[in-house]
Amino acid sequence: MNKYWNQKTNEITPYVAGEQPKDVKRLIKLNTNENPYGPSPKAAAVLKEINPDVLRLYPDTNSTLVREAVASVYSKYGITAENVFVGNGSDEVLAVCWQTFFENCRNTTKSVLSPEISYSFYPVYSEMYDVNLESIPLDSNYMIKIEDYIGRENCGIAIANPNAPTSVSMTSLDNIKRILEANKDVVVIIDEAYIAFAKNPISAVELVKEYKNLVVVQTMSKAYGLAGMRVGYAVADETLIEGMRRIRDSFNSYPVDRLAEQVAAEAILDQDYYNKTRNAVIATREKFVSSLSKMGFSVLPSSANFVFAKPEFIEASVLYQKLREKGIIVRYFNKQNISDYLRITIGTDADMNEFIKAIEEIKDVQNG
Ligand SMILES: *Cc1c(COP(=O)(O)O)cnc(C)c1O
Repeated sequence: MNKYWNQKTNEITPYVAGEQPKDVKRLIKLNTNENPYGPSPKAAAVLKEINPDVLRLYPDTNSTLVREAVASVYSKYGITAENVFVGNGSDEVLAVCWQTFFENCRNTTKSVLSPEISYSFYPVYSEMYDVNLESIPLDSNYMIKIEDYIGRENCGIAIANPNAPTSVSMTSLDNIKRILEANKDVVVIIDEAYIAFAKNPISAVELVKEYKNLVVVQTMSKAYGLAGMRVGYAVADETLIEGMRRIRDSFNSYPVDRLAEQVAAEAILDQDYYNKTRNAVIATREKFVSSLSKMGFSVLPSSANFVFAKPEFIEASVLYQKLREKGIIVRYFNKQNISDYLRITIGTDADMNEFIKAIEEIKDVQNG
């Protein structure tokens, strides 16, 4: 307790981000789902050419360059720049969503619905903005049960698809449509941080023109290899975007800086590079999953740039520690239902081979 802090500051349990070690060179970092290939060389070239003198000036409050780039990727679905909101990472975009769409839940009996195992920022935003969150269990295969989101009183829905940290995705857009149809009076957020890594990525952006209650959130941090730049965006009906701008302009009108805006726009326009790296990650993942299965892990079917794997020969928390001693960092969640699993980011083929070698060594020691 600190007497100068507000009650909320004293009480809130903040989100705990994955570790960013100082000494990355000597470590194999498979803990925060960054892209091993980094950003598009075209985007990197833009960064090099930026004249520092432009930093004198404030950036474009609406990040028009980024909005237009996003619109060009999704123009086949009728998306225009007016359907896009850009923020300082999708975490910020999500926070703006909570404030714009869910704060009416305050002091009501209604809750925002979200899967019980999902992105751990959702409960934090809910606490931050005094919104009840109802956790909906997954089925025994860690799949989202669509029926549970139908006919249940709520004041909003937030689903990550593919889900995190499970890596499992919904089987078709029809499932999302059913949820949207059954919840037309509230906003449904589909957080697509990992959509690029599904084998057949079908983004819910396709549904934005049809459903006025849908907000699709995407990030530059994973597939675009720009986690350090902090750019995320939402695609939704113009009126929802307008609401988000009102909240943004009541908090921070310049969330995306001039460097980020130019680099992000170029990265989005370089779809060839985007496809090349996401396919490389998928190929590595498929090989890695088959090695893990042979070595005694149960692996959930992954549509992401990480796998969620349960070692059957050792406790997950012990394995986490042993890997760490060998300079390999993965993510372990000491939480109900998932404490038997490790979340392992897909790095390069070489990274994953090091991981496999480390597991073999650990098993050799175990077997004497
Ligand atoms: C990584 C991640 C984000 C946040 O990404 P930003 O870096 O803030 O853009 C959002 N949602 C999920 C599910 C994520 O895993």
